[in-house]
Amino acid sequence: MANRNYDDLLERARQRIPKDISERSRWTMPEPDIMIEGSQTILRNFSDIVDAMDRDANHVFQYLLNELGTSGSREQVRIMLKGRVPPKRIKEKIVAYVKTYILCGECKAPDTRFLKEDRTTLLKCQACGATRPVRL
Ligand SMILES: [Zn+2]
Repeated sequence: MANRNYDDLLERARQRIPKDISERSRWTMPEPDIMIEGSQTILRNFSDIVDAMDRDANHVFQYLLNELGTSGSREQVRIMLKGRVPPKRIKEKIVAYVKTYILCGECKAPDTRFLKEDRTTLLKCQACGATRPVRL
């Protein structure tokens, strides 16, 4: 049941993607594999998730630390977070990252790229060409 929220949110995001785009991009996100060990929380398949996102691992990592209000370290495929962080919160933040930094504002496709223009960064959609500013 703990996974429900994550799946629901992702499913809802996917439903908003027009069918041809969602099939073309075959967008899937691996389920986060989270383990609490002593006083730290380990996201064991962090690199798989970042690969699926096609984003800079360090950016995703820093975002999670900021949003979860904790510190941590990154080692190869996994990240370790200080403290016992409820898996549900981590999943919510991953979904929030997807919404903020990946999905197109117009067609909701995940095929987007960061585009630097002067001092602003735009999120440019490869599917429909729309852009929206993002704060990195
Ligand atoms: Zn688009």
